[in-house]
Amino acid sequence: MKLYDAARKLKRIYKRQVKKQAGKYLSPVRRLERVAPPSGGRYAAMTFDDGPDAAPTNPKRSELGLTEDLLQTLAEFDAKGTFDVIGTTEENYPDEAGPIGTFNWGGITYDHYPDFGQDKLGGAVNQPDLITRMLQEGHEISSHTYRHILFGPNRLIYGKRQSSPGLPAVIDDLKQLHRLMEETYGYTIRMSRPPHYIDKTRDGRSAYDAYRYMNYQYMAASFDGGGWQISGNYQKDVDSMVTPMKAALENDPDCLNGQIIFQKDGCNMSKQTPIADALKPQLELLTQHGYKIITVSDLIALSPFEDTPDTDPVHSYAIALLRAGHCIAHKNNMLQPDKPMNLGELMMMLANPRELLSHYRAWVDSGFVLPEDHKIISGSWRLLPAHPYFHAFVMAAGKGLILSGNPLNQSWSTPLSHEMFAGIMREYTGSKSVRAKGANTVLTKRDILEPLAGALLS
Ligand SMILES: [Zn+2]
Repeated sequence: MKLYDAARKLKRIYKRQVKKQAGKYLSPVRRLERVAPPSGGRYAAMTFDDGPDAAPTNPKRSELGLTEDLLQTLAEFDAKGTFDVIGTTEENYPDEAGPIGTFNWGGITYDHYPDFGQDKLGGAVNQPDLITRMLQEGHEISSHTYRHILFGPNRLIYGKRQSSPGLPAVIDDLKQLHRLMEETYGYTIRMSRPPHYIDKTRDGRSAYDAYRYMNYQYMAASFDGGGWQISGNYQKDVDSMVTPMKAALENDPDCLNGQIIFQKDGCNMSKQTPIADALKPQLELLTQHGYKIITVSDLIALSPFEDTPDTDPVHSYAIALLRAGHCIAHKNNMLQPDKPMNLGELMMMLANPRELLSHYRAWVDSGFVLPEDHKIISGSWRLLPAHPYFHAFVMAAGKGLILSGNPLNQSWSTPLSHEMFAGIMREYTGSKSVRAKGANTVLTKRDILEPLAGALLS
């Protein structure tokens, strides 16, 4: 456990760095950890990983399987969960079970849900009735991948685990669950969380690339429900899921407003299911403090960004552009409305969302081969094809918003001036009247979101 704690601490430091870096580029995929507290009340989302799970709770509480038990409790509070489901782990063999109390409890080479040898009791493939009931009762379904195979290697904790050979295999796996949900239930998945939060793929790409291809958001979390930790004592495990939440809410009743809570629709490392006994007291606490538990999609519809509250004057324009699919926020889910803008950001914001997606998919599907004319743009604008803005620049050149030869020797990071904005918008709309607001020499989003929404959404 000490090694694990140290690894988590290192990961936290690393994540802070990554988060700072993630504020650099606009991204179609936003990492959703939490959002700015909605002003109209207290709202939080609860996500449940690794289900559905038809195995009985441990210790056994009733004849209900774990997922049914959780659904029943959620219904008592009119709470809507987000079930981060898998397809099935029944193909994850040959394998052998690891010792209880370790990270390998469910298997040495692969994960198995709900347990080694009991794969049929879990997964959307095997438990259609549970999926149907989740949807009927208004819960959201996100993708925790089809087979729950690591996106890439993690030597420190999961040294013996099999991981995906690379991005194309990760995408194929995601497509399998996506298709199942579309074909069987007419349901379109919008979000995903990688198994064990391992992002990097073996071929040097990441979960963000896979999610960009799938048109998903990265569903993270900001508050740990604690159901995976083990103390060796069941009642203690249950308490450790309730006491920290109680203390946090008593200290500041608003502290969970806008947060995404992490839970498990499955066992902890002791093969027990403390969530079954902890969910009710958790929901009681949240209800007492005036919280409404809504799906992650409903939460981000109320307040999409982590840094910009719904009371900010730019919020209505930002949300309208976001709903139309435009890429306006950074990878860390910050809008950063007062950050000086650059040319690359405007190109991303202007790009037609469907076209941008199909450009990206075509490039990935080709095995990352570039057509000749794209190579010219890559050279003259000094943009590598893997650059987050590359495809937006190819599209912009096609529409005459920028010149492919780049005679002015600009770059994606060239600061955006009033003159440039007016010129590009004249080209884009054919109208001379689209002007940025404010008197800044270098524009911010605050200066352009309103005119942009007017021009793009009319
Ligand atoms: Zn998982």
